[in-house]
Amino acid sequence: MSKAIFITATDTGAGKTIISCAIGLALKKKGLDIGYMKPFQCSGDDMEFICRALGIKDEQELVNPYYAKEPLAPYIAFKRAKVKIDLDKVFNAYKELSRRHEVLIIEGVGGLLAPIKKDYLIADLILDLDVPALIVARAGLGTLNHTLLTQRYALDYGVKVKGVIINNYQGETTAEKTNPDVLKEFLDVPILGIFPRLKNVKSKDGLERLAKTAGKNIDLKALLKTEKPLIRQLIKRDKDFLWHPFTQMQDWLKDEPLIIEEAKGCYLRDSQGKWYLDGVSSLWVNVHGHRKKEIDAAIKRQLNKVAHSTLLGLGNVPSIELAKELIAIAPPGLAKVFYSDSGSSAVEIALKMAYQYWQYLDKAKTRFIHLENAYHGDTIGAVSVGGIDLFHKVYQGLLFESYKADSPYCYRCPEGKSYPLCNFECLERLKEILEKKHSEIAALIIEPLVQGASGMLVWPPGIYKKMAKLCREYNVLLIADEVAVGFGRTGKMFASEWEGVSPDILCLAKGITGGYLPLAATLTTRKMFDGFLGEYKEQKTFFHGHTYTGNPLACAAALANLELFKKEKTLRGLEPKIKFLKEGLERFKGLPNVGDIRQKGLMVGIELVKDRQTKESYPWEEGIGVKVCRKAREYGVLLRPLGNVIVLMPPLSITKEELKQLFDSAYKAIEMVAG
Ligand code: PMP
Repeated sequence: MSKAIFITATDTGAGKTIISCAIGLALKKKGLDIGYMKPFQCSGDDMEFICRALGIKDEQELVNPYYAKEPLAPYIAFKRAKVKIDLDKVFNAYKELSRRHEVLIIEGVGGLLAPIKKDYLIADLILDLDVPALIVARAGLGTLNHTLLTQRYALDYGVKVKGVIINNYQGETTAEKTNPDVLKEFLDVPILGIFPRLKNVKSKDGLERLAKTAGKNIDLKALLKTEKPLIRQLIKRDKDFLWHPFTQMQDWLKDEPLIIEEAKGCYLRDSQGKWYLDGVSSLWVNVHGHRKKEIDAAIKRQLNKVAHSTLLGLGNVPSIELAKELIAIAPPGLAKVFYSDSGSSAVEIALKMAYQYWQYLDKAKTRFIHLENAYHGDTIGAVSVGGIDLFHKVYQGLLFESYKADSPYCYRCPEGKSYPLCNFECLERLKEILEKKHSEIAALIIEPLVQGASGMLVWPPGIYKKMAKLCREYNVLLIADEVAVGFGRTGKMFASEWEGVSPDILCLAKGITGGYLPLAATLTTRKMFDGFLGEYKEQKTFFHGHTYTGNPLACAAALANLELFKKEKTLRGLEPKIKFLKEGLERFKGLPNVGDIRQKGLMVGIELVKDRQTKESYPWEEGIGVKVCRKAREYGVLLRPLGNVIVLMPPLSITKEELKQLFDSAYKAIEMVAG
């Protein structure tokens, strides 16, 4: 890949072409192989001039994929010419040219906000090409304003700016003379050159002067310099100062960790510049991809108003708007939203709410039922209703007691039956507890349809509805923990929709902000809410509230997330992806150590076994899942296993091509490690 630089300007006519040409000529003189690209040209012959000057031999459709006759912004010029712009054509040309040349100079049109397509500006193109930009400014009156506007907007928008070149400098007026020093004071990026006005540059002699002036007046070294990653230092500091979650730090300290520096769409980039597909949505949170314009903008807009104000005794705008939206999309019956900031706290709140609710009904129902293999978070209440020994056993002494019913883990059916002939025998234990103990049971807590953390255990259809019915029969509240399965992961907005269940309490987190900021919500019915109403002196208040409850930035991100679901028809778009993924997973059945493949929507668990016949598990210490995920990294995909289960849970915005990369890499990794 070549080094690429995108030449943009403070305005049209600032001299992008001259500067592109001058830089190209000067670099060529230094013996570098230069490529040039002008993705959009609207009238004129800039492109031809540069190609001639630099001796460019590449095909015209690569150098200039789009040409329009009228001198207008591409958006309108191509619209009037009835040419539909296909950005892939530009990206493919870029890929090809950057493969061919050591340095690729890409020249923009107009300035950063020149529109190309609807909702797509030059700045978006620079971001999508992922190349640094050079800003060409013209010397004179108005330069300070234009240059600072351009640079600030670029940096705010996420464009990397190498620096500024002041062009057309004659040093005659006071404005021109003072421009460089004032700009130096106000800019956040360096001035990489002051370029004089040159006459007759198109002549042979003119080109020679251009090259010479660029060599002398432009800091070409700085222009091409790649930031040296501070990887060694970062790793050392990480190891010196951090304690990572769910991680044996002794291993971590010996290991060579990946450090993520930035992201785009479904990909994460590490501090050495390598891109990886985010195969588990950054731990099951990302929805519409990283750096999603609309969510970025919503957070920035909110930041311009207020970053945080408390919900204890005050309201704030985004939390109100979001509560309304959440109730509008939640299963029927849910009427009130209580905010917090993690899945665990959403669960903690659900448990406390249910417990307190019954006290006001003089029923003293104080116990809970949870399922085997359940995971509801890491705080003490959430761990008390957890069913994964590995995570939960060590804290036994700290926990309150809770009844445990069977989990519908069909691959290892507790009754040794198989669906659908089993007649849901795994519900018997739940029925028994309810029958005997219902008078003391406040609520049943479950992860509907997919028990995530225990290995993506997908439930047989119909069982969730039966659980809900049992709760009604025995007057026990149903808490649906949709922290992992909510916000489209299963193919519907909420997993409860699959079986038409309306829980009494719904816990939400993870995908609620599209994977941007920590926010959680516990939704409940009006009936439960009303149960807490009373005179101040009665002390029926729900005594719970975290400092950052209802944080405006997080709520603004969540609103933008929900808006995107509507605007992009995300759920409808999932159907073909889910089908494609299902087909892709078929092949895994041929791998000898794949015991079970479980999928619901875009949630997948591939359980690896030592012996397929006997379903004998790999010993936990063997770390087979970790090894497979390590291998997948080599193929450019980031995964995180759950014991012997390989999890695939990409952002909902993943494309079919990316999905293919995901399951092809997972397949290869399993084949190599456990094949
Ligand atoms: N409930 C479920 C179902 C979860 O999967 C998780 C996290 N994986 C949690 C609760 C806890 O969420 P958090 O990590 O945000 O506390």
